[in-house]
Amino acid sequence: MPFIDFAILKQRVAIESMLPALQLEMREAHGQYRGPCPACQSGGKRTLVVTPAKAAFYCFAGHTGGDVIALVAHVRDCSMKEAAKFLAEETGQGREADDRRRTVPEERSKEVARSLQPLAYLQADHDSVAGLGLAPETCQAFGAGYAPKGIMRGRLAIPIRDGQGKLVAYCGQAVNGDSPELIFPNGFDPREHLFHTEDIGEGEVVLMHDPLEVMLAWQNGIANGVSFLTETVLPHQLEILAAFMDKARCEQLELA
Ligand SMILES: [Zn+2]
Repeated sequence: MPFIDFAILKQRVAIESMLPALQLEMREAHGQYRGPCPACQSGGKRTLVVTPAKAAFYCFAGHTGGDVIALVAHVRDCSMKEAAKFLAEETGQGREADDRRRTVPEERSKEVARSLQPLAYLQADHDSVAGLGLAPETCQAFGAGYAPKGIMRGRLAIPIRDGQGKLVAYCGQAVNGDSPELIFPNGFDPREHLFHTEDIGEGEVVLMHDPLEVMLAWQNGIANGVSFLTETVLPHQLEILAAFMDKARCEQLELA
């Protein structure tokens, strides 16, 4: 997979040059383009604003804005990564770089996802699960449970899903104070994933400490929690979070 450099794309692709490719019908006035937003389909004929001098857009209906990549993502209702790919294909720019930090290597996790089936032997009703404060119903809703065998043996196995709900991997939460708190299968990079993105709708999302807290909060009526899978967070993970929020149309992040 060729690497796409976001910075080069932003530098070389004039935001107004993408209006035809995005089939946006906009009128120019006072150095700005304004038109209806095909993604939001509300807000009237002037809701989408593209300002070439700032290389930026804003959508009053969607309460969102950003650079040319964000514009493509908003109008086409896709992730930032898909938007960058679209831009690279439309313009021929951005592909020559190999700044790997700016890209999301997902081929490996896709391979894992392709063959992964839910573990049938997990026990939602188990003393050590109850000891974490989790009800069996909560475990069932998440597809989690105590693993009496396998690589998560002796831990609470919690499924990690992609934004579409597809099972990507299980992580293993310690149930008796074991260290580390969370373990992952070989070949799975926890820095490339967020927990519980599959059920989040538009509006607000709450960033929690870990998957266990997300499940406990869910059990107690807070359904819009997500978490990273690591103790510390790299800038790259923040980009993944931002791209997720953009795609899910979450306007605000609350810190738990
Ligand atoms: Zn919009």
